[in-house]
Amino acid sequence: MMLKAPLPPGSTIGVLGGGQLGRMLAVAASRLGLKTHIYSDEANPPASDVAAATAIGRYDDDRALAAFADAVGVVTCEFENIPAKTLEIAGRSAPVFPPPKSFAVAQDRLVEKDFVSELGIPVAPYAAIDDLDSPRQALSDMGGPAILKTRRFGYDGKGQVFVHTESEAESAWETIGGVPSVLEGVVRFEREVSVIAVRGQDGEAQFYDVVENVHQSGILATSRAPARISDSTVFEARRIAGAIVEALQHVGVLCVEMFEREGEAPGLIVNEIAPRVHNSGHWTIDACQVSQFENHVRAICGWPLGTTNRHSDAVMTNLIGDDANQWPALAADPGATVHLYGKSEARPGRKMGHVTRLFPKS
Ligand code: AMP
Repeated sequence: MMLKAPLPPGSTIGVLGGGQLGRMLAVAASRLGLKTHIYSDEANPPASDVAAATAIGRYDDDRALAAFADAVGVVTCEFENIPAKTLEIAGRSAPVFPPPKSFAVAQDRLVEKDFVSELGIPVAPYAAIDDLDSPRQALSDMGGPAILKTRRFGYDGKGQVFVHTESEAESAWETIGGVPSVLEGVVRFEREVSVIAVRGQDGEAQFYDVVENVHQSGILATSRAPARISDSTVFEARRIAGAIVEALQHVGVLCVEMFEREGEAPGLIVNEIAPRVHNSGHWTIDACQVSQFENHVRAICGWPLGTTNRHSDAVMTNLIGDDANQWPALAADPGATVHLYGKSEARPGRKMGHVTRLFPKS
């Protein structure tokens, strides 16, 4: 189902998922005079605090989903692993953006790697792993250290095991639960970068500046805008993101995470696609005139896209677990813009908030 006309102010956006991404989408929507209705399978989701309405239900509850989708002008999703069936049910009552294909590709690492490489875009060497024998064989074919990753439901480094030897290959397969996986060659990279793209319903695509990301234990720790990379690498990153959003006929924000290869011929290798607003784009709230959240809202509502221009350099630092206990000191720091997600329990590894520091534009 397509939108017949742009959704006017006063309309309601349905958001599947109620985490911090939904919360920041709701704040951005409210600035444009739009309301949000959150659908979550968990009680008291962080996004509810700032949304006009919340429905709590399972992602396979046909009736609850239909009632939710009937009550909104458009449906979007703030997390990647939304079941295809949920999107289909919602899609009977309201237009759904991004399109289901974007989720289908990003949810399965094998499908994702096939899709990206078929576009002629480099990915790490990879092999499908479906049984106990294949990790050994694939490792010896690859001839170097590798990472075994589950095809589905992996995020923030979860569902991944490093593999150095053939005997480790077998135990790794057991560690990840013997589920369909991919074995991926370890990339020797100079840095990790990502680019946030947004594509409107008319097919226009815009890109934010490429950022440089540092991960700790598989979780994003900091993003720095702009990345310290050459103009030609910036051009290449945008070309790659543009080819991906076009091939998916994506509508909304999409993030492409990449490695810049170590050595003389730098080149980019795509690691992952996220068909949604992304942690490595949080800096855009403070350093750009129009944030990734507002541009996602604009795209799904059929509005013209806003500028992606960056007015300042920025460093975004995630507040993970107990880091958020530092809020009094951060609040007293005039250089820190503090964002807290309203989560009551600070479990280890849980994203509780982030801090952005701005610097004069380089
Ligand atoms: P992922 O969940 O695939 O984004 O992986 C989380 C993090 O693990 C990445 O951001 C990298 O820091 C690291 N990583 C993942 N895959 C590779 C790879 N093939 N080579 C080197 N590092 C990797």
